[in-house]
Amino acid sequence: MEKEIKGQTALVLFSGGQDSTTCLAWALDRFARVETVGFDYGQRHAIELDCRADLLAGIRALRADWAARLGDGHTLKVPTLSDISDTALTRAVAIAMGAGGLPNTFVPGRNLVFLTFAAALAYRRGIAHIVGGMCETDYSGYPDCRDETIRALNVALNLGMAKSFALHTPLMWLDKAATWKLADALGGAGLVDLIRDQSHTCYLGERGARHDWGFGCGECPACELRAKGWRAYADGLGS
Ligand code: ZN
Repeated sequence: MEKEIKGQTALVLFSGGQDSTTCLAWALDRFARVETVGFDYGQRHAIELDCRADLLAGIRALRADWAARLGDGHTLKVPTLSDISDTALTRAVAIAMGAGGLPNTFVPGRNLVFLTFAAALAYRRGIAHIVGGMCETDYSGYPDCRDETIRALNVALNLGMAKSFALHTPLMWLDKAATWKLADALGGAGLVDLIRDQSHTCYLGERGARHDWGFGCGECPACELRAKGWRAYADGLGS
């Protein structure tokens, strides 16, 4: 695969979170040129999107070769998603477990919509590779993060747009500790520090308190997952 993607461009789904920032570094390590796309879908806490500028500046400062490869950043507005969904990420309601074993932070169709819009953008810009941070190893059980879903959508997009897109999900089989390890392997302590301090994960949009794993409320499922992964990663470093 390495030879195949040499000289090509990738479009990375970049939200400003830990996973998508690691994916961005993964893409910068492999592709000749990398563009990013973020989605403003009426999320209650758009703070994650605001983190992108600092993360991109940090990435550029970290490595000159990455700075040279990093191309346009796009933001697409998909407000309809919050109009039609009733979730803790799009409404002022508490995070809770919903019917069917899925937390109410699940925004139905979100990744399907994001990847479809990303593919439409990639189509226009002549890009064949799309990179997303979906992961089914250490996650909240969202069905649109599953490898099977992504593979099926890849087939549907290729058929529906008569293209040969490749959807890459480098984090699919990594737990959160392994995602930190991947960031370390790609960009060393500089990238790990950048992601820890500038990326945003917290569902409540909290950035007041600084923990050893970064900023967040420390209580919501996203913070808990991030903190747990960081501790496992930090412990691993010492062994
Ligand atoms: Zn939180």
